[in-house]
Amino acid sequence: MRALKLNVRTGDTVIVISGKDEGKRGKILKAFPAEGKVLVEGINLVTKHSRPTRKVPQGGINKQEAPLPACKVMLICPRCHRPTRVGYAILEGGPKARVCKHCGETADK
Ligand SMILES: [Zn+2]
Repeated sequence: MRALKLNVRTGDTVIVISGKDEGKRGKILKAFPAEGKVLVEGINLVTKHSRPTRKVPQGGINKQEAPLPACKVMLICPRCHRPTRVGYAILEGGPKARVCKHCGETADK
């Protein structure tokens, strides 16, 4: 399967644009290009019930992030702090760099 092109990467700050966490911001903990999904800190929390173990005898309910489709998040520009669509610029002799459509700031160094 061909990996999907993600506009966001691990470490990016993004804003959720649809779903129950709409309007929330978080940092991308992990990107899954093959599935087109991202794991965002504090977003799309699901409740996991765990069985009692020797370490945690009472068992427990844990909140944990679940990956959400990357199309539901937008990159927040590190310079102008606005949610932005991502453009691409070809650096001289280098790889493609992501560029903010608002301020023209390159998101990748
Ligand atoms: Zn910007």
